[in-house]
Amino acid sequence: MNLIFESSVAGRKCVQVPPCDVPEYQLPASLTRQQAPHLPEMSETDISRHYTKLAERTYGVNNGFYPLGSCTMKYNPRINEEMASLPGFTGVHPLQPEHTVQGCLEVMALAEEYLCQITGMDEMTFQPAAGAHGELTGVLLIKQYHKMRGDTKRTKIIVPDSAHGTNPATAVMAGFTCVNVPSNEEGGIDLDKLREAVGEDTAGLMLTNPNTLGIFDKNILEITKIIKDAGGLCYYDGANLNAIMGQVRPGDMGFDVVHLNLHKTFSTPHGGGGPGSGAVGCKKLLAPYLPKPHAVAGENGYTMDYDLPQSIGRMKAFYGNFLVVVRALTYVLTLGQKGIPEASRNAVLNANYMMHQLSDTYDIATKGHCMHEFIITLDKMHKEKGVTATDIAKAMLDEGIHPPTMYFPLIVPEDLMVEPTETESKTTLDEVVAALKRIHAMAEENPEHMHELPVKTVIRRPDEVKAARTPVICYHFDK
Ligand SMILES: *Cc1c(COP(=O)(O)O)cnc(C)c1O
Repeated sequence: MNLIFESSVAGRKCVQVPPCDVPEYQLPASLTRQQAPHLPEMSETDISRHYTKLAERTYGVNNGFYPLGSCTMKYNPRINEEMASLPGFTGVHPLQPEHTVQGCLEVMALAEEYLCQITGMDEMTFQPAAGAHGELTGVLLIKQYHKMRGDTKRTKIIVPDSAHGTNPATAVMAGFTCVNVPSNEEGGIDLDKLREAVGEDTAGLMLTNPNTLGIFDKNILEITKIIKDAGGLCYYDGANLNAIMGQVRPGDMGFDVVHLNLHKTFSTPHGGGGPGSGAVGCKKLLAPYLPKPHAVAGENGYTMDYDLPQSIGRMKAFYGNFLVVVRALTYVLTLGQKGIPEASRNAVLNANYMMHQLSDTYDIATKGHCMHEFIITLDKMHKEKGVTATDIAKAMLDEGIHPPTMYFPLIVPEDLMVEPTETESKTTLDEVVAALKRIHAMAEENPEHMHELPVKTVIRRPDEVKAARTPVICYHFDK
């Protein structure tokens, strides 16, 4: 497919500028271009076809099943987009006087109230732009807490080996040393190893529950108690709240601070680097350190509170990605108290249904029920037939299905992490199960052929490392 610049034909255009009806003004030569800008010249038909072709080459939730584990690629209701495109939300400026943007401030205050109810937290900020950014914010709150108490020897953050890669990265970014704690047989935290790891230097723990194995750690109250008894604080990575929203709250599990990926659980289309929101909620003891400013309800309506002397400061300009918050609030209000727990129940049901349907064909990495996602391991098939998780994922592309997350969590070899989400019907799940069984049979019969796949896609097996490390994103003109 040609780039838009390569399709350009000199003189072709799709606009006609009306004749000039005001006196012409000549800019000084120092302000004018010496050379015309390199803009593609195309007809409207050509442009329309160009972008339609591009759209056909991408794959999103609106094309089909997208079981990207830990990423929650669920369908995002259109009403959320409608609300986020209301002119009263899109046409405002962040420096407008507060009395002219009362509706926007109310959105933030209401979203804070509801999301605090869902997480069991007291206050929340919407400044962080994404999950990892929220983690950094949350861990800086923990750092500030210890600093304000003059407790400077707490330099370590405990992270289990099943953690999302961003957790240890965050701890290090925030200036802590990371202590790794191994998982036990059931996929939860090894309590004895945790007790050995904590001490006077423990600043806190970062944990995801259910973890990246899709397992809910039943010892959670004991885990958070061990950290608290040692004087540390507990951080909940709530990037993916899909399994527990409306069922159980991080605040009740003993956590002091949590981030949510509004762009995963609370319905904003994501992927491709679009705007996100890593909202951070915390208990009262951390609230004085939240980034400023903070929307608060006052006697004469809503105001922005800048008077936060102990705040960690700003994490992002203004109030974060506000329209993502509008979508999240719409999502919470449209689902309501009944719909939210129903969504998480269906997310867990769908994952368990699919896992069960596949368990006679594929090896499942964990025992018993899963939460919102489950892990397939191709370790045995790899050893016996040389077929890898990548090969299975590539075969799925030929079936027109987006592959699951691969090679994560790191503690399971040759794994595929499947998260179907609640917005898929049984019909879709059954079709995907059938496709995965066809792929398995093909791998058994003709393992060599698996390395050749995919054969139906535009690009087959790119060098993924090269694509990530040396992307070609500039077009070089001949002249
Ligand atoms: C997605 C995810 C993150 C990171 O979120 P980003 O918005 O991509 O920065 C962190 N933790 C977990 C468990 C996640 O699934």
